[in-house]
Amino acid sequence: CGIVGYIGMQPASEILLAGLEKLEYRGYDSAGIATVNDHQVNCVRAKGKLHNLRRKLDGEENPAQLGIGHTRWATHGKPEEYNAHPHLDVSGRIAVVQNGIIENYRELRADLQAKGHLFKSDTDTEVIPHLIAECLKVPEPAAPATVTSSPFLEAVRQAVNRLQGAFAIAVIHADYPDELIVARQQAPLSIGFGQGEFFCASDTPALIPHTRAVLTLDNGEMGKLTPLGVELYNFEGDRLKKSPRTLTWNP
Ligand code: GLU
Repeated sequence: CGIVGYIGMQPASEILLAGLEKLEYRGYDSAGIATVNDHQVNCVRAKGKLHNLRRKLDGEENPAQLGIGHTRWATHGKPEEYNAHPHLDVSGRIAVVQNGIIENYRELRADLQAKGHLFKSDTDTEVIPHLIAECLKVPEPAAPATVTSSPFLEAVRQAVNRLQGAFAIAVIHADYPDELIVARQQAPLSIGFGQGEFFCASDTPALIPHTRAVLTLDNGEMGKLTPLGVELYNFEGDRLKKSPRTLTWNP
């Protein structure tokens, strides 16, 4: 239901929690965040309100400067902690949050299970980290014009091309600590531009406290956020040139 993401020079977890609080008005049944630090993913989730998640994170020193967060409104699978986002691949090194519904998740899940992927939730979302892991293992030979700028981005690009439905996602990988990947298909996702830091959110109230320079992705578009800037692509892998607009209204 709500997505936030951060990459930059500040500790990410407080920024993610504050962003999720700005999206609370949309309603949710559980919440979670995942951060990357020291080439490890740290994922914490809780059923119920955000203060339950806060309580779990309290007192935990987390210097990570990259992370994603989610408030979930369950569509597939009970509102329980094991179904809360972020969801991880088998290695625990890829973390994904998703808004929307992956309509072909049953076929994808069966296919991935046949390839040895073990699933831990009942959600449609969990196919995504497993699919990205699989795409990283066997990159499809891509035509030169469609090669994006990192193997991780390229794997996410190949994965989203296999997803049917309406979705917005944010993805991080322990082995790519300088990349936050986002993609949108029929569900809202915006990127906030700061100085040496970048944000993403499913709705602008989570971005406004940090920046008014905002770019809203269109359907079939994805982005790679690094501390140095943002690269935009379509799902075919063509580089796009778009600039943020300046939000003038007060939410
Ligand atoms: N369909 C996903 C799930 O149930 C995402 C729901 C949402 O948008 O919060 O896990």
